[in-house]
Amino acid sequence: MRKPIIAGNWKMYKSVKESVKFAKQLNEKFKGIQDREIVIAPTFIATASVIDALSFSNIQVATQDAHWENEGAFTSQISPVSLQELGVKFVILGHSEKRQYDNETDARVNRKLKNVLRNGLKAIVCVGETLQERESGKMEKVISAQVNGCFEGIGLSDLINIVIAYEPVWAIGTGKNATPEQANEVHAFIRALIAKKYNKEAAEALRIQYGGSVKPENIKQLMAQPDIDGALVGGASLKVDSFEALVKF
Ligand code: PEP
Repeated sequence: MRKPIIAGNWKMYKSVKESVKFAKQLNEKFKGIQDREIVIAPTFIATASVIDALSFSNIQVATQDAHWENEGAFTSQISPVSLQELGVKFVILGHSEKRQYDNETDARVNRKLKNVLRNGLKAIVCVGETLQERESGKMEKVISAQVNGCFEGIGLSDLINIVIAYEPVWAIGTGKNATPEQANEVHAFIRALIAKKYNKEAAEALRIQYGGSVKPENIKQLMAQPDIDGALVGGASLKVDSFEALVKF
């Protein structure tokens, strides 16, 4: 049985004060929930304050990136050493907005993933095709290249600390979402890739989240699919009521 994992990616929304207030409100709503993992990813600058506000909470805090080195001449970058020190549990890597605006590559995601794991953190690794890639029949090729590139040199024992998020780029923040069947088909494809690269058991244990305009109205149908183990949510994670409905799907 794979434990469902619902994660909210706050992107560059909410100030530090707003983030703390929001985290406290969520904490009240989610008290006692143990049968699913709840993750929130505030902006970097709000990370420490949100963690402080959530002491003894079942909500885990993620960041939206982390560097592949622990220290060095990398102006503006964030070391996973500090994230671990603060109590961060997950790092989101390879989000399509990082790929689009910051030229994130699979090779860089791979280096970051290795360093995140070395520092005792878990990772949510995002993959997904663009509309053009899907329409030209390249979806499987693109997803395979992303999974193989991001997981290069990642050992079998590390898989337990990794979640994959399948986020079709055309569905992120657009209001368009993949149908539950379309999403499940790609999840099953990713699971087969992992089975081929590692083994069937590891693939069966790996959690794969869907992301792309997940809302209270469609979460139930998505989560009813056999290969969908959770959701990575942007827009609908920014309001208490909708994130509550998503977590309590
Ligand atoms: C995301 O940011 O990962 C995302 C899926 O956004 P949205 O839910 O707004 O489509």
